[in-house]
Amino acid sequence: MRPESMQHTLTAAAIAVSGIVALVAARTPGSQAQAFDVLITNARVLDGSGNPWLREDMGIRGDRIVARGRLAGATAARVIDAKDLMVAPGFIDVHSHAVGALRGAELRDARALLLQGVTTIIGNPDGGGPIDLAAQRLSLEAEGIGVNVGLMIGHGSVRGAVLGNAIRDPDPAELDRMKGIVEKAVADGAFGLSSGLFYEPGRYAKLEEVIALARVAGGVYASHIRDEGNYATGVVASVREVIRVAEEAGVRGVVTHIKALGPDSWGLSKTVVADIDAARARGAQVFADQYPYEASSTSLGAAVLPGPSGPEALKGRLAEPPSADQLLKEVAENVRRRGGPASIVIASGRGAPGLAGQSLQQIAKTRGVSPERAAIDILLGGGASIVSFNMSEDDIRLFMRQPWTMTGSDGDLSLPGPSRPHPRGHGSFARRLGVYVRERGVDSLEDAVRSMTSLSARVFGLTDRGELRPGAIADVVVFDPATIQDRATYEDPFGFATGVQWVLVNGQVAVADGAATGVLAGRVLRE
Ligand SMILES: [Zn+2]
Repeated sequence: MRPESMQHTLTAAAIAVSGIVALVAARTPGSQAQAFDVLITNARVLDGSGNPWLREDMGIRGDRIVARGRLAGATAARVIDAKDLMVAPGFIDVHSHAVGALRGAELRDARALLLQGVTTIIGNPDGGGPIDLAAQRLSLEAEGIGVNVGLMIGHGSVRGAVLGNAIRDPDPAELDRMKGIVEKAVADGAFGLSSGLFYEPGRYAKLEEVIALARVAGGVYASHIRDEGNYATGVVASVREVIRVAEEAGVRGVVTHIKALGPDSWGLSKTVVADIDAARARGAQVFADQYPYEASSTSLGAAVLPGPSGPEALKGRLAEPPSADQLLKEVAENVRRRGGPASIVIASGRGAPGLAGQSLQQIAKTRGVSPERAAIDILLGGGASIVSFNMSEDDIRLFMRQPWTMTGSDGDLSLPGPSRPHPRGHGSFARRLGVYVRERGVDSLEDAVRSMTSLSARVFGLTDRGELRPGAIADVVVFDPATIQDRATYEDPFGFATGVQWVLVNGQVAVADGAATGVLAGRVLRE
């Protein structure tokens, strides 16, 4: 533990003790009434531990929870009547692409996240993001942000900075430079290493390189695995890579946005779950995160042509009839692998102007060409991002029920416009609770809330968050389990979630009576 976090823990312990004193005092008849900055009354407290709710009040001073219990007679500058709704720790999104968007004036208040109850996001996933985390932190802090942000250091970015897109191993000096970048990022507060071994340039790394860097990073290793379906390595062997990194580097391995991609791989969730359980039984720290949708989202290039898929690479392959023929076959096979041309829908992109919301099948039909040819033409025009329907509900549910699965979004934030991004950025957390708990009964409310609060906080080492206890930071969400609902759809991905009534971020009211207040109470967190 670093001296700084040690100090935090000691402070937290001191506050925890005073919180207990406050609690005892409040319970003693005739004792002086407690005064808080914020008092939440009439709450069903779902504390994030997985325990069923308790009817309690909660007192907050500054940015900390200082009392929980029956706080009769207590006073506060602001009293929030929870009206018997659930009061839970603020939700933690462990896989977010929204950090860049938070730097923009129109999105920095993070209202789309707050209205789902999200108070903390972990950024730089999939091996990406900048390598200078100090600069990234400053840019976020400069104008303020609506939610807390934790940062990872991306393996792909580190490799790219040293090796570019080279398809080879680093030599010892290059590996040392990569380690140096990771070391600096850790000193700047990184929570661990993220990787995207499906993408360029991460895909060119052998696992030994990743293990060496994960060892330097410590903390969490969160990986977009080499193959989520059956492109080459296969989902089962790719999950085993995460297990190996967790075991050999001694870190917490996270299979990020866990899934079995494409009809050929449906049902393999059983093998993956058995492998992770076996690894955990022999002492490896292995976890997963998941977003609650049957569609994923990525670039068309990565989906239909993993590896080099830029116009230059394509033009080279199209120049000769045999290689052009091979290219078309390869793309056709990858389109089939992901569920066929009707299941791949354009989100946005330079190569597909005016085509957002249309499937590859529709585009091919309009143009009178094959779906694979349509895909190649879009790539030649500059590519596109896609929404790709490729998961089975049985796999989603099995992964969701595992006690080691956290909730994430994999989402980004953008303003309404012609593009049709995946709705997960605006809806994941509300959908997890509204659709998967309430409508489909996949798991209990307390388990689902645990998957997005205390589990995530413990895995990522967010010592003071993810639970509602005296001494913890006051990231709090008040929501109605009967009405919480995602309103973002594939057709209209910008709808704000409903059912979240109040949100506190670091003790400040960020959502009041169902409306975002615009307060920029978020912080950039450090490991
Ligand atoms: Zn990913």
